[in-house]
Amino acid sequence: MIRYEGKLFRPPSEADSLILQATIGCSYNRCTFCAMYREKRFRVRKLEELEAEIDWAARELGPMVRKVFLADGDALIAKSSFLLELLGKLRRAFPGLSRVSCYASPQALAVRTVEEMRALREAGLVLYYLGIESGHDAVLERLEKGVDSAEMIRVAAKAGEAGVKLSTMILLGAGGRALSEEHARESARVVNAIQPRFVSTLVMTPVEGTPLMEEAMAGKVDELDPIELARELRQFVGNLELTGTVFRSNHASNYLALGGSLPKDKARILAELDRVLAAPSRASFTPEWMRGL
Ligand code: SF4
Repeated sequence: MIRYEGKLFRPPSEADSLILQATIGCSYNRCTFCAMYREKRFRVRKLEELEAEIDWAARELGPMVRKVFLADGDALIAKSSFLLELLGKLRRAFPGLSRVSCYASPQALAVRTVEEMRALREAGLVLYYLGIESGHDAVLERLEKGVDSAEMIRVAAKAGEAGVKLSTMILLGAGGRALSEEHARESARVVNAIQPRFVSTLVMTPVEGTPLMEEAMAGKVDELDPIELARELRQFVGNLELTGTVFRSNHASNYLALGGSLPKDKARILAELDRVLAAPSRASFTPEWMRGL
């Protein structure tokens, strides 16, 4: 059977994927807003353990497995020889496998070469989830993301060159009130430079056990209200110049669930935001009790 260690996280679009913990925790683990792997010490799991779990899943679920998500926070940081063996085992175990994906920190993208990423993509690892969070350098620094916007663009381009699809995340509200407009504009600039296959927005929310929560308790976090967040989202979407990207704001942390293909649906999404902003009413926003993290 599969023995999961600690709390398990996966992107919303991996809800029907088999999840395997190729690594435990996040090798970086310093982003101020992120509570996901705080209690875990990073390590790459033993290949034999994973092979036993794959054998079990092949027996129990076999042809039903079409997608696999490699957890935890940063599986791409593992050696590519390890990942290649793992991907080979997955392909042999699940004949109907159509894709393998994982979270990729900018630090992992910096370490992996384009050739390694290409070989991994050919072996099935075709999609990375990358938290851009912001395109604004001061905001990235405040979040302790460990990279500036130029480095974020550089490492994302490596994945693009290797033919790997990127699903990217932007954290609404991460610049507070003072930087809201610039954070939206700069985030759009970085997303435009990367041209990811997917872009989604999440709302920055202080979570227990994070430095962000400590800042919030000390009154140092300027949390935006739903209308301010909608204004920021409007600014962000308005500045997007994408050629073929699916946009979603459907993560549970959002107050507004929007989505579409860009550039095709840009005008409709902006019109929906303008309608909400012209006559803001509570009914337009997801109530607080329905929001998740
Ligand atoms: S790189 Fe990702 S998983 Fe790791 S601390 Fe930052 S946000 Fe969390």
